[in-house]
Amino acid sequence: MPCFADITTMEVGGRISEFVEPDSRASFLEAIIMADVMGKKLCVIGGGSNMLVSDEDFDGVVVRDKRRQISVLDEAAPVEEGAPHTTTVSATAGVHWDDFVSYCVRMGLAGVEALSGIPGTVGASVVQNIGAYGQEVASVVTAVEVWDREEKAVKTFSREDMDFGYRHSLLKATMYEHGPHTAPTQFYPSPRYIVLEVTFTLLHAQTNAVGMEQLARALGVSVGESFSIQHIRDAVLQIRDAKGMLEDVHRYENPWMAGTVESAPDTALDEGPEDRPEGSPEDRNKYSCGSFFMNPLLSQDEADKLPADAPRFPAVDEQGRDVVKTSAAWLIDHAGFKAGYKVAEDSTAGLSTKHTLALTNRGGAKTEDILQLARTIREGVRNTYGVTLVPEPVFIGVEL
Ligand SMILES: Cc1cc2nc3c(=O)[nH]c(=O)nc-3n(C[C@H](O)[C@H](O)[C@H](O)COP(=O)(O)OP(=O)(O)OC[C@H]3O[C@@H](n4cnc5c(N)ncnc54)[C@H](O)[C@@H]3O)c2cc1C
Repeated sequence: MPCFADITTMEVGGRISEFVEPDSRASFLEAIIMADVMGKKLCVIGGGSNMLVSDEDFDGVVVRDKRRQISVLDEAAPVEEGAPHTTTVSATAGVHWDDFVSYCVRMGLAGVEALSGIPGTVGASVVQNIGAYGQEVASVVTAVEVWDREEKAVKTFSREDMDFGYRHSLLKATMYEHGPHTAPTQFYPSPRYIVLEVTFTLLHAQTNAVGMEQLARALGVSVGESFSIQHIRDAVLQIRDAKGMLEDVHRYENPWMAGTVESAPDTALDEGPEDRPEGSPEDRNKYSCGSFFMNPLLSQDEADKLPADAPRFPAVDEQGRDVVKTSAAWLIDHAGFKAGYKVAEDSTAGLSTKHTLALTNRGGAKTEDILQLARTIREGVRNTYGVTLVPEPVFIGVEL
């Protein structure tokens, strides 16, 4: 049996007592149903890129969907005069997210190219509504087929049903009693609704609007201008690589990860260590959960207390209220935690040396080391700005 350290990007976490990898819809459903019927703790895992798991043994069942099918549902659908030409594509939960993006870009399907290089799976992409460089998965999802663990039935949710928000969805809401990282529900650490398949509606186009300043600069265009989706994908992968925000391809050399990806978006696996550019295993910046803390959503009063130069963006919270979004990276940096920060010089956990968003395993870290770093940063930001940062990853068997 694997350890969570084998199958998570943070490379920490204890032994798993039962690990199953169903390769059909029926056996995926059976694994979930059996775990629930027998009252076992259930963790449905994708790429393990958004979880921080205890060093202790996990006494439950971990299920990883082995199905990796992408289907074009309406390739030959007629297009009405003047209507945008869209194509409907569905993917099973276990499809590696970037394999899906790569497929869409190759097929000339626009709408997910800026989400290139985000680790993980199609199934988990809708749990926290992944987003980057001006795109969010919510804007292209049309249906999510799930297994409802409460009512024991297959259901299909529309985009509206999914209640998508900033790193939020109906599915994520079922994991906590009162919002992210509050008391867990009976379904934790997975949602009440397990994703079986996601249907996307994408624009049949070789170009799409560039949605974010940093990306536009890299492409030499203005925000809103159209650009080739292949070039957008390439630029996003380059920016991510430079920031250490791609997963490490060498994790797929671990036998427990073998076969879970078609082509990891990084350097070739057959290079010798001497040929590996920065960003390969020696650069530990890739051993993370991505952004560890979410950008805080503040009331106007709370936002008014921040320094004048703190970033502020209009946003809407989960209750539909107008709020102000600020930047977790800015708060962390200005509270004195610079890129590369460690609690002690010999710590095995540290902030990425490239930016302040990712907490990283510098080699040999235990979960407790990551937590100690996270607590120190959260306390520092709270003491300086009165804002309590909320973590983005799912915590299993540990608390901050
Ligand atoms: C280097 C790096 C960069 C990142 N960059 C970004 C980014 O730019 N934007 C962004 O939004 N995120 C980013 N992330 C976070 C992460 O990649 C996403 O949240 C991703 O969607 C997680 O997918 P996963 O399959 O790895 O989920 P896991 O970590 O395996 O699981 C996360 C949660 O989803 C649940 N889950 C998994 N599969 C299913 C399923 N089939 N049905 C129901 N629940 C399921 C799990 O039970 C768990 O609760 C980054 C992470 C890393 C390591």
